[in-house]
Amino acid sequence: MKRVTIENVSKQFGQLYGVKDVDLEIKAGEFFTFLGPSGCGKTTTLRMIAGFYYPTKGKILFDEQDVTRLQPNKRNIGMVFQNYALFPHMTVDENIAFGLQVRKFSKTEIQRKVDRIRRQVHLSNYGDRKINELSGGQQQRVALARALVIEPDILLLDEPLSNLDAKLREETRIEIKRIQSELGVTTIYVTHDQMEAMAMSDRIMVMENGYIKQIGTPQEIYHRPVDRFVANFIGETNLIEGILEAIEGEEIQVKTANGHIFTGRKQQSSPALTHMIGDKVFISIRPESIHLGTGDNTLTGKITFVEFTGISVNYIVDCNAFSLKVMLINSYDQIKKIGEDITIHITHDSLYFLGE
Ligand code: ATP
Repeated sequence: MKRVTIENVSKQFGQLYGVKDVDLEIKAGEFFTFLGPSGCGKTTTLRMIAGFYYPTKGKILFDEQDVTRLQPNKRNIGMVFQNYALFPHMTVDENIAFGLQVRKFSKTEIQRKVDRIRRQVHLSNYGDRKINELSGGQQQRVALARALVIEPDILLLDEPLSNLDAKLREETRIEIKRIQSELGVTTIYVTHDQMEAMAMSDRIMVMENGYIKQIGTPQEIYHRPVDRFVANFIGETNLIEGILEAIEGEEIQVKTANGHIFTGRKQQSSPALTHMIGDKVFISIRPESIHLGTGDNTLTGKITFVEFTGISVNYIVDCNAFSLKVMLINSYDQIKKIGEDITIHITHDSLYFLGE
């Protein structure tokens, strides 16, 4: 396993920048995810690491080795794509063995390596099966085995779960994570699915329009987003606009358009917020951090939407001038109806303040 350093890399396609000024270090053995909406530059960054694109500017290093202009087959990387790219009429073993044959390993060595990796991806008895006789999830595990059998320094996964249905996606996600942590291979994962990114990654890089927006652990990105784009992209959140009204010690007060004052903690602010009285501020409140009854930041409002998801009861509450999405867990006995009034509260620590 190797460390990957991306030094001030940009990739231009004609006049357009696919990726701009990307600077980051992925630690050896880390599970690192590129996350962002379609067109933000995730795949372009991955392709430069693989060697399919050369950067217009900047450097890429594997440990100390400069690989910026090295051919893909000289980089010792394993890759898995969205569409698996398996050979459908060949068997599982023939598919897995492909990279080893190219590298001219002996027959016995190939069989030993293929058997071992097949066990690791839980396909022990499937060696002679044809690819087109396997389920989507099994095919994806063959693709993973084929990428891993060459013992790559770096594993690159580009949206590997997007062709699977929801349940299989979750199962395969757990499998990939298990295999990755058993082998300890440095892994770079591309997805636009924030749940997947949160569940699997040691760290995440959120991208928008070719730029890095934020790099951090799933917890940092979820609880301390740098701006409204990240707050909105990572899970659901309520964003309420207001004006910074007062700061007293560690306490911060923000007044909304309807005159409601929210009180929170100054330290629960994005680093970009300047804390000037009179500034426009956005308050981010996660739906699951809103509770029934009175407490800090008590609000009353009218219910305009109700849904029961099994895990939670979700409401939309009209609080005059702003609405709140509310997610209540363990409150099935007292599900309220549209049109009813509701009293809710939000602890000081559950407010997060963002700049413009
Ligand atoms: P998706 O999730 O849809 O795959 P992405 O985040 O991976 O999106 P990229 O494929 O990296 O995004 O594309 C980043 C930008 O670069 C886009 O505007 C895209 O149109 C552009 N782009 C990517 N590859 C090329 C290319 N070969 N020629 C021209 N423009 C390209």
